[in-house]
Amino acid sequence: MVVVGAGLAGATIAALSAGRGYRVRVLDNGGRAGNSGAEALPAGVHSVLEELGLREQIVAAGARRSEYAVLDWGNGSAPWRSPVTGPGSYDHGYHVDYAALVELIRRRAGELGATLEPSVTVTGPVVSNDVVTGVYVRDRGSDDGTHRIPARFVVDASGEDRVIAGGFGDRVSDPASTRHVHRTRLSPEQATGEPEVFHTEAQADGALWRWVLPCADYVEVGQLRRPEQDRDSTCTVWTPWSSQRIAGPGWLAVGDAAGVSDPLFLSPATVALLAAQAAAEMLHSVLSGLADGVEMSARYVDAYTETLRCTREFAAFCLDPSRQRQTEAELVRDLTGMLNSREFGPALGRTRRALEGNGPLFDCECPEGPLVSALEMPLPRG
Ligand SMILES: Cc1cc2nc3c(=O)[nH]c(=O)nc-3n(C[C@H](O)[C@H](O)[C@H](O)COP(=O)(O)OP(=O)(O)OC[C@H]3O[C@@H](n4cnc5c(N)ncnc54)[C@H](O)[C@@H]3O)c2cc1C
Repeated sequence: MVVVGAGLAGATIAALSAGRGYRVRVLDNGGRAGNSGAEALPAGVHSVLEELGLREQIVAAGARRSEYAVLDWGNGSAPWRSPVTGPGSYDHGYHVDYAALVELIRRRAGELGATLEPSVTVTGPVVSNDVVTGVYVRDRGSDDGTHRIPARFVVDASGEDRVIAGGFGDRVSDPASTRHVHRTRLSPEQATGEPEVFHTEAQADGALWRWVLPCADYVEVGQLRRPEQDRDSTCTVWTPWSSQRIAGPGWLAVGDAAGVSDPLFLSPATVALLAAQAAAEMLHSVLSGLADGVEMSARYVDAYTETLRCTREFAAFCLDPSRQRQTEAELVRDLTGMLNSREFGPALGRTRRALEGNGPLFDCECPEGPLVSALEMPLPRG
């Protein structure tokens, strides 16, 4: 199996597949990763860490325990203080530096037998009768500047480059929702605020979202600004988009290569990790002959597309400037409406439960979910 990209998603699927006994080559061009700063990971991350055998090591890698996140809608009401856990799940999440987390998972992938080739640029898929049978990689020594690496299966985890998915369709993007991302680092001594809390708040009539994310060695202070109100060009541009196709015969895309839908609100890094976990499970069923590849691929597309759609909708809800003029009761009403809607409710509920640590993000073998998780059990009062 070839995995293109050794970011969060690629390193995870490589490690989980190598752990199941597959021969995995991970090709990375050493380029820019999706995030160069801090990540807030809710309790759902434990299920991936546990499967990777990294639950103990993550703290040694500099992760800081977190129990609460604070969301201030900027409407004058008291900020919402929510646990990053769910009932009956793990009792904490983490704040961690992205590069340190990726390094940890890459190392684990190597220990489990995956081969990481850190300076290889993949230029596109090798396609034969509509089936991906390998990848082209840049090679200055050959006549056409490329050579082929054959593979039984190719995973596109190349982030926004989408080197395989890009061969099967354009990205569908929403430039109207573009935001500029600014981040700075403070030393823990310079920072004010609660030391273990990821604090997010809307300001300036919703034109600006600001966050403070305390890691072990630094505190990240970030801002999402509307482009028309931002003259500062020292930023990363974030635009939501999705790939027209995210899987087909011989390949699938995972992480940012599948789509970018949320800058901040539903923990996009944890969604990428949980999607890589679900994809590894699905791949194993197909490659070991336990399940039909065409059917599994269709289920993967349906489930993952739904997840990306609902996280995009949730982000759009939060970024809508009119939210800042709503009272708390109106916000609760509208959020509850979205969570109970036919259109977004099921996927949002599943995503929320997965982020809290109470179930998989999706399960291609059992797309409706196990019976227990399909039942919305009332929470005990008090
Ligand atoms: C500015 C910003 C801030 C963010 N902040 C947060 C946050 O606070 N919390 C959160 O949960 N999420 C956050 N995210 C989202 C999160 O970081 C991403 O969802 C996550 O990084 C996705 O990981 P990935 O593995 O899919 O992609 P990436 O991390 O982008 O990895 C892709 C890899 O593929 C390699 N590659 C690319 N092209 C090629 C090629 N042609 N050949 C070989 N290799 C290639 C790259 O070098 C890279 O290593 C943020 C994202 C951005 C952009």
